[in-house]
Amino acid sequence: MKRCIFVILLSLQCLIVQAVNVVFRFDDFRLCPDTLQEQLLETFVRHKIPISLAVIPCSEDKLFFTEGSYFAQLKGATETGLIEIAQHGLNHRFMGFGGEFAGISFQRQMDMLSKGKHLLDSLFMPIITFVPPWNSYDDNTLRALELLGFECMSSCMTIGQPLSSAKLQYYPETIDHPNKLINAIKDNKNRNGIIILMFHDYDFDDSFSMSDMDALLNKLNDMDGVECLTFKMLCEKRVKSDRFRFKANIEINLLSKFLKSGHMLQTTLFAVSVRIINLLIYIFIVLVFFLFGWFVCKFRNKYFLLLIVCVMGLVGIVVWWHLLTPLKAVLFTFLISFGALLGALLMNYKKKTK
Ligand SMILES: [Zn+2]
Repeated sequence: MKRCIFVILLSLQCLIVQAVNVVFRFDDFRLCPDTLQEQLLETFVRHKIPISLAVIPCSEDKLFFTEGSYFAQLKGATETGLIEIAQHGLNHRFMGFGGEFAGISFQRQMDMLSKGKHLLDSLFMPIITFVPPWNSYDDNTLRALELLGFECMSSCMTIGQPLSSAKLQYYPETIDHPNKLINAIKDNKNRNGIIILMFHDYDFDDSFSMSDMDALLNKLNDMDGVECLTFKMLCEKRVKSDRFRFKANIEINLLSKFLKSGHMLQTTLFAVSVRIINLLIYIFIVLVFFLFGWFVCKFRNKYFLLLIVCVMGLVGIVVWWHLLTPLKAVLFTFLISFGALLGALLMNYKKKTK
């Protein structure tokens, strides 16, 4: 009996203990000597904080420089597991349809992906993560990634992102500047989820320097309940982010904005619950509207009519501003019923004046 209680308490504790996972995703990393890239690597290695580098495999069909001290340092860091090399397209060339991959034939995508993977695999440990340039890809890309042995991919959280692969893990970027990280952690500190920070070399400017990054990493190391990982580590730890979790997170809504949960990849349960509660809130608003309408009809007072038009206009603007599926259905119900009520009131008014 005591053992049973212990197991139940332990299970409850597992549910209560929350951890924020953070992945740093640095895009457009080039295999050539570069002062900023070298400083970045040195900073992350010194703090022992993992980072995933989205590396462009080659330029104009030639490899970048793979010799010299900078390359030895990079290769050494990848072997410790702290630095992950992810594949960022092939040449990072704009091929139409918004990027390098979407809209291109399956065979051509397969050729490009396998060429890039072969090049990176020959320099580092086998690559398992793909980051599409400009976050642009299609179902053919996912099919090719599966066949080439990729295990995860990282794009972004915009509506319409393909998610046909049941084998791949999806870890989309959730924030796009290092300045946003601490607030994203604070807003989500009691939730289980993953914050994926995408950043580029151009983010280092007058407002954010390498010493700011140094201070940020220092702060992270001092924070409780925060664990930094690479995409590969997430896969190894089986931190699942299948297509259902990805889909549930894409459709942010009014309530998720209110809860400030949009800057983290939430668990499927959390994301779906927020969407359902959000839907219920709107249904409640529609019901209140009907009661309000009934009240207006009963008293046929033009001031009540004016008030209801103002309230509906205001609610309509708010809904429109935050409009994302599945709220469209609620909005249409709302507008149609509003039109019907207005028509009924006008007819009543005409009858009364005759
Ligand atoms: Zn890029």
